[in-house]
Amino acid sequence: MAKLMKGLDTKLIHAGEPEQRIGGAVTLPIFQSSTYEYSGQTSYHDLRYIRLNNTPNHLALHTKLAMLENADAALVAGSGMAAISAALLTVVGGGGHLLAQDCLYGGTHDLLTQEFPSIGIEVDFIDADDPPSWREMIRSHTKAIYVEAISNPLVQVGDLRAACEFASEHGLLSLIDNTFASPVNFRPSEIGFDLSLHSATKYLNGHTDIVAGAVIGRGELIGEITRKLNHFGGALDPHACFLLQRGLKTLGVRVRHQNESALRIARFLEQHPRVTRVNYPGLESHPNHLRACELFDGFGGVLSFELQGEARAADRFIANVTIPICAPSLGGVETLITRPATTSHLGMTAEDRARAGIRDGLVRLSVGLETSDDLIEDFEIALRATYD
Ligand SMILES: *Cc1c(COP(=O)(O)O)cnc(C)c1O
Repeated sequence: MAKLMKGLDTKLIHAGEPEQRIGGAVTLPIFQSSTYEYSGQTSYHDLRYIRLNNTPNHLALHTKLAMLENADAALVAGSGMAAISAALLTVVGGGGHLLAQDCLYGGTHDLLTQEFPSIGIEVDFIDADDPPSWREMIRSHTKAIYVEAISNPLVQVGDLRAACEFASEHGLLSLIDNTFASPVNFRPSEIGFDLSLHSATKYLNGHTDIVAGAVIGRGELIGEITRKLNHFGGALDPHACFLLQRGLKTLGVRVRHQNESALRIARFLEQHPRVTRVNYPGLESHPNHLRACELFDGFGGVLSFELQGEARAADRFIANVTIPICAPSLGGVETLITRPATTSHLGMTAEDRARAGIRDGLVRLSVGLETSDDLIEDFEIALRATYD
């Protein structure tokens, strides 16, 4: 009988795993083989070869990831940027035009602004919170709309339903970077997105020890993106596949803990007299709170805030905390803290940051799996020391 797999946590553990256990092994072994015996394939892309992302380690992940987001199919890639670039090059191609949310993840923003013009892809940026303004930006060669589930570092939630409706009304494809929400909190295909993208380096793997990416979505599109990625060569190594699969099994327990801990920390910071602003979609004070409640099952593990005394106070606070590690990236078991103006958003000019609302004193926190009370106490002591 087929295994019962309705809940996300059951899928995380069992989806895509081999039906016949290999040598009885409970865990899928690493297939550290670059090539496989020829068995009559008639298409290049069906040959079993490591760069074609089709070893048993890849195939297990593809099934698991597709099932997690209730989508048709999935593909893993050598990094989040490999997944994003392969997906965008497939759907907008040379000569196409893309509408993309402003304030994107830095790497994606740089891909769109520094690489796409030279290969003939045009991009216009849209305010994801203002759907009526999108229509006038459509051109005859517009192919797709690209948004992020939760933006970085202000954790804004755009009008995601409107993005899907806009795409289907105008014959465009809809793409969303779902890295910050993770499939635990949001499954884009359920509201009609064609493609969901992930930096699996973050929550999906969750242990800050690999680089990987994923594209999840409609079957025929995943097929086209697979062929593109095969040509560009951004395959994921089987050993990284193994680690990603191991990390994924605990995604549910990790993200639920992070949702809960981040909300508690956000509430603690919001009531602290030295904290002037807290951005977290789970707070009633967040401008997109109601939308986030309607779309998401949880609000994620990332929040940002500002302190009295701005950048200088922020740097002192970061130096004073003992648990969080000052490092870019997010989504792992360790709590990480950064000042985006000096790390993730260093590539933007000061004016562009100001326009995007990213003040120099803004602090971003990626909440890990430490005991929430310890983190809150650490922050309380560090805040006191900052103003002594
Ligand atoms: C990290 C990140 C990426 C890029 O992923 P890599 O795995 O570093 O290539 C893309 N989008 C978001 C939202 C990210 O946080």
